[in-house]
Amino acid sequence: MTHKLKLATTSLAGCFGCHMSFLDMDERLVELLEHIEFDRSPFTDIKQVGPCDIGLVEGGVCNAENVHVLRAFRTQCRILVAVGACAINGGVPAMRNHYSLQECLEEVYLKGAGLENPHIPNDPELPLLLDKVYPVSEVVKIDYFLPGCPPSGDAFYNFLKDLIMGKAPQVSKDELRYD
Ligand code: SF4
Repeated sequence: MTHKLKLATTSLAGCFGCHMSFLDMDERLVELLEHIEFDRSPFTDIKQVGPCDIGLVEGGVCNAENVHVLRAFRTQCRILVAVGACAINGGVPAMRNHYSLQECLEEVYLKGAGLENPHIPNDPELPLLLDKVYPVSEVVKIDYFLPGCPPSGDAFYNFLKDLIMGKAPQVSKDELRYD
């Protein structure tokens, strides 16, 4: 058995749909597990990322904690991949970029229907929100992009197979999916 590649995954400002699609590889995951092992990931519940060969990042960057996690992934992962529309261009969470942060907070916490005690949360434990939602490539260097919303299981499989074989991954147009 050759050395297994370490793979870490994380979700920043995303919906976990990309992670769910990763699982759509189904039985091919068993084949991949002959070549990779998981480090930090929602699949393992490991909380701190260690030295890794591949890091997959879902979601854009909307708060200070996202910046911290993303920088840790960049430091620890030899190859860092932006997975899905939210990581690549901000996606759905970046719809808030059309408004100021204050407008968004007021709309949700002060003007929303059915609020009993309208107030904007200010617990110091909460991660500081950024003014906008940023693509991950605006915060750290990204090596590869896997587009889609979410990328299909086939796209994940072919992309990871290329990386495992030491090739630059290619994503064919037929594999692109935005549903
Ligand atoms: Fe969810 Fe789509 Fe964003 Fe992936 S790209 S986290 S599926 S909204």
